[in-house]
Amino acid sequence: MSPLVETTGLTAFYGDAQALFGIDFRLDAGEVVAVIGANGAGKSTLLKSLTGLVKVPRDAVRFDGRQVGGLPPGEIVRRGLAMVPEGRRLFPSLSVEENLLMGAFAARTGPWNLERLYRMFPILQDRRRNPGTTLSGGQQQMVAIGRALMSNPRVLLCDELSLGLAPIVIKEIYDALPAITAEGMSIVVVEQDVTVAQRVSRRIVCLQEGRVSLEGASETLTREQISAAYFGL
Ligand code: ATP
Repeated sequence: MSPLVETTGLTAFYGDAQALFGIDFRLDAGEVVAVIGANGAGKSTLLKSLTGLVKVPRDAVRFDGRQVGGLPPGEIVRRGLAMVPEGRRLFPSLSVEENLLMGAFAARTGPWNLERLYRMFPILQDRRRNPGTTLSGGQQQMVAIGRALMSNPRVLLCDELSLGLAPIVIKEIYDALPAITAEGMSIVVVEQDVTVAQRVSRRIVCLQEGRVSLEGASETLTREQISAAYFGL
């Protein structure tokens, strides 16, 4: 089976500074892959390369068999790749519901709509008229996930969902992932917390200084292997 998302020899630059040095990455249909690594390892840059926020060569990224590297972000969302950005990035002047509806611009059809989202995160229905920014961090993260799901993507790319959240809230957020993959979606999570990453994913990819330093089935990788790949010990 060919991967749903695949990069081959992916390189990425910020001006003259190179951030990714030949990343071979794949995501199969229905799987959850966790991308881990220290600050500055290139995790966010990898996600941004997949969604067109960082320009990369056309043939470096394939989605569903087509070359999509460097396409405009809106075009990539329309094809079915959606991102939950680091720091949630809600629209401050809009209500929860308006923020969610912003995600529906891609007009793809699929299982996700307001009703389905409110069933997964009931607290958002209670707060739907509130400005998004008056919610707690965890609730804002739910809105950010919901907004991405409203585009009915085939692939959800999540950048550091757990940033700044309490462990119990992190668990609540990640507990929603199986309901999402049950709809046939594939997920990439960028995660600093290795324990969380191992728990929620089927496969782990560790980046170090812009290169893949380790890849393997989440349940079989050892702490020692991960530490070595993470810190370059
Ligand atoms: P973090 O956990 O801190 O978000 P990360 O693994 O996501 O780290 P990236 O944000 O992808 O890492 O950064 C990879 C490299 O690219 C780092 O050296 C970083 O300094 C550099 N970089 C990231 N964003 C920019 C930018 N907008 N301009 C210039 N350099 C950048």
